[in-house]
Amino acid sequence: MDIGLYIHIPFCIQKCAYCDFASFPGMLQSADAYIEALSLELRAQAERFGACRAATVFVGGGTPTLLTGVQVGRLLDAARASFPFAPGAEITLEGNPGTLTRENLRAYRAAGVNRLSLGMQAAQDVLLERLGRIHRMPDRKSVV
Ligand code: SF4
Repeated sequence: MDIGLYIHIPFCIQKCAYCDFASFPGMLQSADAYIEALSLELRAQAERFGACRAATVFVGGGTPTLLTGVQVGRLLDAARASFPFAPGAEITLEGNPGTLTRENLRAYRAAGVNRLSLGMQAAQDVLLERLGRIHRMPDRKSVV
């Protein structure tokens, strides 16, 4: 049976004003321990559900793009070990625009991520600020 896996990363830089998600600022130092716990949980769920393939994996949050490429790679390896990925599986990382760099995007790609989901919320800096978002709209002249 093919399934979709959702994996939650609860770390954020700051709490947005409207946020009801399970997300916590100032705890990124726990990321390695959290990934280790997720690996154990994935293994336990694989025993419970039996032979399933992951057709999709969505790593959401929180702010998964606070993780390093190495941490994302470790997480995907653990997911794959418990739920083998179907050929052409869609592997999504939810990205906060305020945390993206060319370097971490390349590292996520190398770790196996093949889709990025971006939260935009608003296209006006005044609203982004009011919402407590950490990013602002890029200068349109600088966007190619
Ligand atoms: S970045 Fe997302 S998960 Fe984190 S506090 Fe803001 S809305 Fe919540």
